[in-house]
Amino acid sequence: MFEEVYSPVQKINIHPFSNFFVKRDDLIDPYISGNKWRKLKYILQKAKAASKTHLVTFGGAYSNHLVATAAAAARSGFKATAFVRGEEVKNEMLLICSLYGMELIFTDRESYRNKAELYKSYFGLNSDTYFIDEGGASAEAVRGCSEIIYELKETYDHIFVAAGTGTTAAGLLKGIQEQGLNTKLHVIPVLKGGNFIADEIAVYTEISNHLCLHTDYHFGGYAKTSPELLAFIKKFTRDTGIQIDPVYTAKMFYAIFDLCKLNQIPSSNRILAVHTGGLLGLLGMKEKF
Ligand SMILES: *Cc1c(COP(=O)(O)O)cnc(C)c1O
Repeated sequence: MFEEVYSPVQKINIHPFSNFFVKRDDLIDPYISGNKWRKLKYILQKAKAASKTHLVTFGGAYSNHLVATAAAAARSGFKATAFVRGEEVKNEMLLICSLYGMELIFTDRESYRNKAELYKSYFGLNSDTYFIDEGGASAEAVRGCSEIIYELKETYDHIFVAAGTGTTAAGLLKGIQEQGLNTKLHVIPVLKGGNFIADEIAVYTEISNHLCLHTDYHFGGYAKTSPELLAFIKKFTRDTGIQIDPVYTAKMFYAIFDLCKLNQIPSSNRILAVHTGGLLGLLGMKEKF
């Protein structure tokens, strides 16, 4: 199912920018959306090559990674189990996971913290299972995400991406370095205290001066929003026809406009925003709008 994809680059005409483009990874698939497709591609290949039949992974109750893994598993003939952080809940995301046949094990926050231990206690003696870390963080995921850069037919002054674990950002940075591009990679952590993202990136590739980390666009922390961010989502969606999600992509797009307003990015520069998908995240926010 991981046949080659090629997501389009769309030019957006929006004030004050004159060369603003979006890499539409959100269009790759409705469920294995955006960067989750990129991240899972080589993970599943590796699991298949090792003759594993059962994927085991981890996430919160609104995790895009869980939905993506559930869908990818069902389509490629794997069984799937997820350890879900926190007490048992029902929501739209977990419903989709269940419909794809994913087994859900709700796990208290204390036990959830030690994923290797948790995996071992359930599946330690099982040779059919394949461990996929939370969010898919791995060298395979980094490789998959670096292909975003390889697909670009034109060059850009700035590439922007949102970061949760930083794996996608690491892949983009690696791609930029391997291709010898003169492009700045702007990373927007969506969690508070986002400086840890640099350490995560350093696990996979050298921190070069291509990298700019902007840690002030978390809006209070993971999945936190503000009236200003919600208003931005509505306006951006209305103005461009492109949906964005409150957890990841809205914070990145907001940062682009703000950095331009602060004169840190000239509005005439060639800017590429990587739309990492995640639109199902809107389902968890419906009462906020
Ligand atoms: C998971 C996710 C991210 C974060 O990716 P990392 O590789 O963990 O940094 C960004 N955007 C969307 C839409 C996501 O679902």
